[in-house]
Amino acid sequence: MYLCDIHSHSRISPDCDVPLLNMVHAAIAAGVEEFCVTDHCDLLGLDGNPVTSFDWPAARAQYRAVKAELGDKLIFRLGLELGSAPINPAAARDILAQGGEELDYVLGSLHNWIGMEGNLDFYYSDYRGSPGLARQAVENALDHTWALVTRYPDCYDSLAHIVYPLRYIRRDGVELSMADFEDRVRAIFTEVAKSGRAIEVNTCRGTDLEPWPPLLCWFRECGGELVTVGADAHRPEDVAKGIPQALEMVKAAGFDCVTTFEQRKPVLHKL
Ligand SMILES: [Zn+2]
Ligand SMILES: [Zn+2]
Repeated sequence: MYLCDIHSHSRISPDCDVPLLNMVHAAIAAGVEEFCVTDHCDLLGLDGNPVTSFDWPAARAQYRAVKAELGDKLIFRLGLELGSAPINPAAARDILAQGGEELDYVLGSLHNWIGMEGNLDFYYSDYRGSPGLARQAVENALDHTWALVTRYPDCYDSLAHIVYPLRYIRRDGVELSMADFEDRVRAIFTEVAKSGRAIEVNTCRGTDLEPWPPLLCWFRECGGELVTVGADAHRPEDVAKGIPQALEMVKAAGFDCVTTFEQRKPVLHKL
């Protein structure tokens, strides 16, 4: 198994205060062979307000300093978790262009409501006793995921955590799963496959493994070939959590390889 964790944050992200070097040392300690930092650039902030820029000078300086210190102890990449690209594709493209050739990998995310609930992160809504609101949250995320994969496929390499709103819906005790949206998810996966992009198995720090086997099967049936894995760590102790299990799931679903990205091109590694 090729132990790679290509979804991880550092203090460049608004919800993380850990220096990148600490995350990288945790990756080495966990036996990770390839690691990618993917700090947040959300075109809707946690408060729902628009964002149109990313602090590339800070991100680049941190990345270069850590890379210089590491030498060849591990394969180390620079990525970005780009959220809500469909609300401002011009800004999204501009930010990605500023990443230049050093940018290896772009995760496409939808963390926020768009056009509802104050454009806040799905995390903030209260779904308790509101199955209707819960359904709307998933529909809202799928609407904009559909826009991303059909209209702006240049704005992502791998589709991050498609299950994101369900984490908070379940937190609030509402029973809903991706199986309730199977046709829409399959349509999205077909587009991802057609454009040669990947989907991500996001382990959510090892806490969210159960939804992935059926999703991986659908993706494969829709012609998908590229799958990435990430623990989405915001603390050193969470780096690579659940990745071995995620790789087993990818293999069990019939994929031969796990994918990483270099200069936004897929690199396949035999499972
Ligand atoms: Zn995310
Ligand atoms: Zn993340």
